[in-house]
Order: sequence, then C-alpha cells, then structure tokens
Amino acid sequence: ERVDFIAFFHEVIDRFEMNVPEHISFSRELPPQRMFVWIDRDKMIQVLDNVISNAIKYSPDGGKIYFRAIKQKHRILASVEDEGMGIPYDKVDKVFERFYRADKARSRKLGGTGLGLAISKELVEAHQGDIWAKSREGKGTTVFIALPLMGRDRGAGK
Ligand code: ATP
Ligand code: MG
Repeated sequence: ERVDFIAFFHEVIDRFEMNVPEHISFSRELPPQRMFVWIDRDKMIQVLDNVISNAIKYSPDGGKIYFRAIKQKHRILASVEDEGMGIPYDKVDKVFERFYRADKARSRKLGGTGLGLAISKELVEAHQGDIWAKSREGKGTTVFIALPLMGRDRGAGK
C-alpha cells in the first residue's frame, strides 16, 4: 500500500504520546513534505511500536526522545533517538538477534523477551529496507530505519 511515511510516522508517534510516561518527552523533527513508501501499514506499525517502546523502556527520568526522518537519494531514513542507558559498542549489532538482551536490560527488571528487534529486522528487510542502531553506553541509542522511496519520489531529494 502507498503510504506517506511522514504522516504515518506522526500517527504512530501521536498514539504513543497520548500515553507516554510523565518523565519522558518527545521531540519531532519531521519534514513538512510528503514522502511515499510502499509498505504494509500493520507490519510497519509493529516495527515502529517495537523501536519506540524500547526507547521509552530504556529511557531515564527526564529523558527526551527525538524522532527524525530525512529523504536521501533513493530512500527515507527515519530514526528514533533516546537518552537512555545505551548498548555496549560490541553488542550493538547483537540486539537484532533473537532473544538477545543486553546485560543491563536483563539485570534491571524491565521485562521483555528479546524478540522485538529481531522481528522488526525481519519486517523491515521484507520491505527491502534496513534497520540498525548506533549507541553510546550511558549516553543513548539511535535506531535507524531506511526504506526505499516510491518511484516518483526517488532521486528527488538531495
Ligand atoms: P521485547 O521482546 O519485549 O521487545 P526487549 O526489549 O528486551 O524485549 P528487543 O526489543 O529485541 O528486546 O531489544 C533487544 C535488547 O536490545 C534489549 O534487551 C536491550 O538490551 C537492547 N536495547 C534495545 N533497544 C534499546 C534502547 N533504546 N536502549 C538501550 N538498549 C536497548
Ligand atoms: Mg523491545
């Protein structure tokens, strides 16, 4: 289904913002123009739900979560950045494996099965997209999601 990713991203964020814990704030840096992608809405909701729930779950009190999206040549690059505990640099790729949970996530009684990101990766890849993370321990984590832009929009960016 043809979807304007920006409007779609706003809708997903809106839903979280209605119930977001008091100690966390959201900041959206999303462009005004539309960016069309061909996606299965429900599956992409699942992806964003996983990533945003993680950002909330692993955020400290007073933490801010930044939502961004930019148009690149043939793709849209969306990201969710938090100011949470972060992931050790040698573990940052492992978090996309099934049942992997970093020590800190395990030791803090945060709950979870370690499947969220593994499922997200499968779903994003089924859309010919990519998902990866950058993180600094104690500083925060950014999860990036890249999705191919649809025909007319391709190459229209910078
Ligand atoms: P669930 O299956 O409920 O999602 P989970 O959140 O533990 O459980 P994933 O979402 O797959 O599982 O994440 C895997 C692991 O990656 C987490 O246990 C945590 O160690 C680490 N992680 C994921 N997102 C973040 C984040 N935003 N900040 C810090 N660590 C994170
Ligand atoms: Mg999770």
